[in-house]
Amino acid sequence: MPKKHCDILIIGAGPAGLACAGELAGSGASVIVLERQRIIGPKACAGALSRLMPADLVPPSALRFDEQLVEIAGKGHRLRLETPRFTVPRETLASYQLAKIPNGAGIEFLVGTGARMIDRHTIATGDGDELSADRIVGADGSLSAVRRFLGLPTGRSLGLYREVRAASSDYTLILDAARYGAAYLWSFPHRDRVNIGIYFDPVRMPVADARRLLDEQIGRRFPGSAVSSLKGGWVEHRYAGVEHDGLYLIGDAAGLALRATGEGISTAVISGRELGRRLKDTNYAMPELKRILAFKRKQERLFSLLERAPRLQDHLYKLFLFTKRLPGGQRLLEG
Ligand SMILES: Cc1cc2nc3c(=O)[nH]c(=O)nc-3n(C[C@H](O)[C@H](O)[C@H](O)COP(=O)(O)OP(=O)(O)OC[C@H]3O[C@@H](n4cnc5c(N)ncnc54)[C@H](O)[C@@H]3O)c2cc1C
Repeated sequence: MPKKHCDILIIGAGPAGLACAGELAGSGASVIVLERQRIIGPKACAGALSRLMPADLVPPSALRFDEQLVEIAGKGHRLRLETPRFTVPRETLASYQLAKIPNGAGIEFLVGTGARMIDRHTIATGDGDELSADRIVGADGSLSAVRRFLGLPTGRSLGLYREVRAASSDYTLILDAARYGAAYLWSFPHRDRVNIGIYFDPVRMPVADARRLLDEQIGRRFPGSAVSSLKGGWVEHRYAGVEHDGLYLIGDAAGLALRATGEGISTAVISGRELGRRLKDTNYAMPELKRILAFKRKQERLFSLLERAPRLQDHLYKLFLFTKRLPGGQRLLEG
């Protein structure tokens, strides 16, 4: 069984793994990035970039929104955004991240190669090869094999969506406590389609109900438009720490997605970069990671309040909206 060794092995070439590899490029460390899929990029996702996204990682072709439409119990409210949001196909985001990693910078990509943990320094690939590394980084998403190897507990919600061949300019959040509880729907325009979906906790809402509510919205908003098959995936939001005695977790594998909204692209790239800096310099204290964790914890406290008070939910949504309209209110609520 051939065995290859590198300094740092990154499992997963999603936003987190690519950001970590980008930070390590040219550092002198030998880095291998393993990606199970044959192509780097595709992922079940709505492709919205939140205000936390580092500006230098927003692809120039991304669609920009300076306004958000928030529907609360059927009534639309327009909110001017202090920081723009963007939508971008995940393949485009991945290409943009890859383009920032120069050839010959010490980063080797092995695509179409899945990894299974053998021990803290060794993995087996689907081809039956073994790779060993001084340090292994789990950037392998919400169903992380590295997290499973570490025996860490999980906390996951689900996102389901369809893509509609239609034009829309409204970057929309759809809230309705009586119908969706603390779940929400989104309708995010892309250049040639609209990604419309529902994010929910399957313990609180059966999948069949979520699917029905989504299809009702699609029928109401885009009657007669061509609609894709249902797509979706898990979002791991239970934070389990980044450093585990020589093994590391970033992005969804670490549980860094936000529980209330399911957003995780920005926290994935921030954690990937921060870990890359830490691996180069053990004294680096990862301040950006601390910042997003503080925000995640604050948002989760507000969300728990919302979940515990079903009758007050629509009022709380309106209060959040009111706060977001105040100067500095968006920064206060959104990190
Ligand atoms: C339906 C849905 C909609 C979403 N919409 C948004 C949104 O609009 N905005 C937002 O910010 N977030 C959104 N998210 C969350 C977002 O997709 C994730 O938070 C983000 O992709 C996390 O990035 P990551 O790099 O940690 O993991 P991933 O993007 O999941 O990347 C992990 C990579 O690891 C690879 N991999 C997994 N296991 C192995 C293995 N054993 N060996 C080798 N490779 C492996 C995978 O193929 C994948 O390429 C959504 C999630 C879902 C499910």
